[in-house]
Amino acid sequence: MITAICGGVGGAKIALGLYRVLPDDTLSLIVNTADDTEFWGLQVSPDLDTVTYTLAGMAGEKGWGIRGDTFAALAMMGRYGAETWFSVGDRDLATDIYRTASVRRGDTLTAIAAHIASSLGVRARVLPMTDACVTTRLRTNEGWIDFQEYFVHRGHRTPIEETRYEGIEEAAATPQALAALHEAEVIVLANSNPVLSILPVLAVPGVRQALEAANAPCVAVSPMLGEGSVSGPAGDLMRTISRPPTSAGVAQAYAGLIDGIVIASEDEDQAARIEDMGIRVLCTDTVMRDDADKERLAGDTLDFARSLR
Ligand code: GDP
Repeated sequence: MITAICGGVGGAKIALGLYRVLPDDTLSLIVNTADDTEFWGLQVSPDLDTVTYTLAGMAGEKGWGIRGDTFAALAMMGRYGAETWFSVGDRDLATDIYRTASVRRGDTLTAIAAHIASSLGVRARVLPMTDACVTTRLRTNEGWIDFQEYFVHRGHRTPIEETRYEGIEEAAATPQALAALHEAEVIVLANSNPVLSILPVLAVPGVRQALEAANAPCVAVSPMLGEGSVSGPAGDLMRTISRPPTSAGVAQAYAGLIDGIVIASEDEDQAARIEDMGIRVLCTDTVMRDDADKERLAGDTLDFARSLR
């Protein structure tokens, strides 16, 4: 069993790589749900859906949503004057309706995510980090805003001073997620946004302890290239945790939990500093342009982790 912790579009790349190089039913993904939201009264789980659609081979061109989806429901909602900035396709909407109805019936998010994944033919365990409701909030110079407001509506252009994961203290790791960490032969922290995707998972009560107790080597894949992230706002957000926007900063953020980190060859000059923290370093090409890149990086990451055992 291999277990990875990941967020949405960026993390789904290495998740797909792992999925393709591993035998069926041996990969577990513990997925961030702190950017879940409610839209049109529906429960939306963007990262869970992105990961599931990606593994099912149905993700849209930009990495989220469903490829070839239509937007008739969105257009109709627009005619009613409803908010349409969260651009959800018709098929994607069905997932949200199914999830919302199942939650109302009393099913757990874990059971619902498993049913959605297996219905779409995914042979990996897609596990929400918790069944409880956790909400990432971000502080701008005008006050606190929600994650989707920041990321989707404002296109992550607003500077952020501070982040918090509301509800995290009352949340608990699921037995399935804890088992996935306990049984893992290797644990991977995906190249997801540290502040928005990985740290919320690590902050769920029980997860950090399970990681510390796990026998498996734990390696991170860095989302950084030079003095910023490969894409998106991850570099800028490192300021909110008082870390530099570099692979060394990511290593600091995960220190005590990871045995190794995979960083870009271009950033080899950071390796000695990271090794001084007691964290081993693999320098390689970490940009995943196509599926072959994803498989190669996933394979190299697994080999590296196994060499640390
Ligand atoms: P989100 O929920 O859609 O923001 O996705 P994640 O949090 O899972 O991942 C976002 C992160 O993925 C960003 O910080 C990017 O720097 C990183 N990322 C995207 N593509 C790549 C890539 O090809 N290689 C690496 N190493 N990181 C990437």
